[in-house]
Amino acid sequence: MCGIIGYVGSQAAGPILLEGLHRLEYRGYDSSGIAVLNHAGVLAIHKRAGKLADLTASIEESPDGCIGLGHTRWATHGAVTDRNAHPHTSSASDVVVVHNGIVENFRELRSRLQRSGIETVTQTDTEVIPQLISLYQQEGGDFLTALRRTMAVLHGGNAIVALTQARPDHLYVARNGHAGGVVLGFGEGEMFVASDLPALLPHTTRIRHLADGEIAAVTAEGARIWDRSGATVPLEPLQVDLDPVAAMKGQYRHFMLKEIMEQPRTLSDTIRGRARIDPPSVELADLPMDDEALRALRRVLIVGMGSSLHAAMIGRTYMERLAGIPADFDNASEFRSREPLLGPETLVVSISQSGETVDTLAAMQHVAEIWKAPQVTVCNVEGAQSTRITDGAAIYLRCGPEVGVASTKCFTASLAALYLLACRIGIARGHLDGPTAEHAIECLLATPSIVDRMLEQREAYEALAARFAEAEHMLYIARGIQYPIAMEGALKCKEISYIHAEGYPAGELKHGPIALIDRRVPVVAIALRDALYEKLVSNIQQVQARGGTVFAIGSEGDEQLAAGAAFFAPVPESDPLVAPLATAISAQLIAYYLALARGADIDQPRHLAKTVTVE
Ligand code: GLU
Repeated sequence: MCGIIGYVGSQAAGPILLEGLHRLEYRGYDSSGIAVLNHAGVLAIHKRAGKLADLTASIEESPDGCIGLGHTRWATHGAVTDRNAHPHTSSASDVVVVHNGIVENFRELRSRLQRSGIETVTQTDTEVIPQLISLYQQEGGDFLTALRRTMAVLHGGNAIVALTQARPDHLYVARNGHAGGVVLGFGEGEMFVASDLPALLPHTTRIRHLADGEIAAVTAEGARIWDRSGATVPLEPLQVDLDPVAAMKGQYRHFMLKEIMEQPRTLSDTIRGRARIDPPSVELADLPMDDEALRALRRVLIVGMGSSLHAAMIGRTYMERLAGIPADFDNASEFRSREPLLGPETLVVSISQSGETVDTLAAMQHVAEIWKAPQVTVCNVEGAQSTRITDGAAIYLRCGPEVGVASTKCFTASLAALYLLACRIGIARGHLDGPTAEHAIECLLATPSIVDRMLEQREAYEALAARFAEAEHMLYIARGIQYPIAMEGALKCKEISYIHAEGYPAGELKHGPIALIDRRVPVVAIALRDALYEKLVSNIQQVQARGGTVFAIGSEGDEQLAAGAAFFAPVPESDPLVAPLATAISAQLIAYYLALARGADIDQPRHLAKTVTVE
């Protein structure tokens, strides 16, 4: 993900901002920029597409001034150009903003601005932010009120830093959702702001993470923070723990919960810089296949083990629907032992978060040696063994280390990676064109905030788990693209709570598993309002008619389903193809809280290893 930096104090801001951006380069970016306000209230903005070195080279004279902000961008909306680079300003140039995230309703906000006579001049979603703040200020209100009003109308996960000539000694910082973090750093007579700790740590170890909905006004002397309602929130800076493991686990009881909660951000990291609307496109830097090579493909085969196999199952649907290409999936260990038939027209996609999974590596080796088919691997570790077999062809998940043995953030990131790949192939083959490509990409870009909304409900899952922790068997049922999530939910449940659970396509129920139903066997049913909804509702009725207890995971607002179920988990409205990213969260939370209620060893479940390197 891109980076944010801010400074206010008594030193020259320019060099501090550039050095901070340099420390954020590891996150990846396509453009960068800084804005510095000098003592006379004059704003100097420098921004450039390309590397930070290009920005630095373009600045002939370091800007004068002790307050400023900076940004490294990974474009989601609008091409990579100097003009689209951050910071962005209002037309009146009275407000300047850097932004991480996605303003999902930017079109609507842009129209609202146009109705007030304000024309935006960039292709970005970001520009609506300074324009709205400026408009709301003109409508009569101080900067803080205008900023609060603006944050309240933005949809999606967003973090911003803003500067105004009207308050030349203040930096304003705001955050909505969890897709992009922002941290304040407390110095002596100076303050820092950054999206990531590495940019702050050379200056200070006293920090304060901004929570969802908070707004901070920062001066050289310190900060004040308000919540969404406008109430003052205590500052309570943290002294950063220098024990790296403890620091990593932070406030969470288990790595698994931490990793579940990280998903809005990890998903943004997987997607950002790769998917862009306006013009709709997907760029996968480590996929060395051009449009012609992608058009020559006749089939895609996706292989994996465990959770990665479930991701592969969903990946098949992505290939069929988004890329318009015949596709299949296989369990990597079975694949290589049954001597499959392949050819150079099949793209083999392997999934292994570690890149070291023995069966997946063996399957890949088999493909490389016998069939010489093109390969790409979905992987979370740069330079892992798997990427050596593919000669570097990879889609990196960029999730950071996943410590919990039960995969969570790498699972959802794998889905996003496969979705990106399917869009890339679909666009190259002409299966997705202008509007369909734009719709597909927009749906993916909305996933971090959908996941965020799913995570807000986690306490309800905790209550549910307490009621069903005694169960010894569970069934998970679903249909279509949700069926692999039923499998994934059951796998998570087995892995960490040691409850015996099975995931079935709901159509299979009457072919055997329904014999297991009684009141001691809870059934988790995923029944979103999609094309298969009515069929799922009948299956739920069949379960209830036999005395079974149903946990329904359904569409938000489905009162009827909620009324009939013992527990109802609402899923925000989302396109059916990305809905598995939301229901995966339900599957994870059910398993986590069941395991917690049963006192299991969640991060290191018995008999299991994180990376399976032996057969
Ligand atoms: N959506 C914004 C853009 O395209 C911000 C992207 C980012 O987080 O870098 O400019």
